[in-house]
Amino acid sequence: MKFLVFIAILVLGWYVMRWLQNAEVERRVRARTADLRAGKAPPPRQMRATDTMLCSRCGAYVPSEFPTACDRKDCPFPGVG
Ligand SMILES: [Zn+2]
Repeated sequence: MKFLVFIAILVLGWYVMRWLQNAEVERRVRARTADLRAGKAPPPRQMRATDTMLCSRCGAYVPSEFPTACDRKDCPFPGVG
């Protein structure tokens, strides 16, 4: 019987923990939504894309801003690869 009570307390504790976590997540989402509506929160981070170009020797696409060299000796890009 003691064992059953112990299990029941564990299960109850687990449910209480889960409920508290859900409440916390909901609170954060609500706060974030309110901040967004009020224009207080920073906008979501912008994704930054970079252009690539094709290496004429190895056929790999490398970033055109900072091209990296492949291990071929005739690679047109001087960067450290
Ligand atoms: Zn190359």
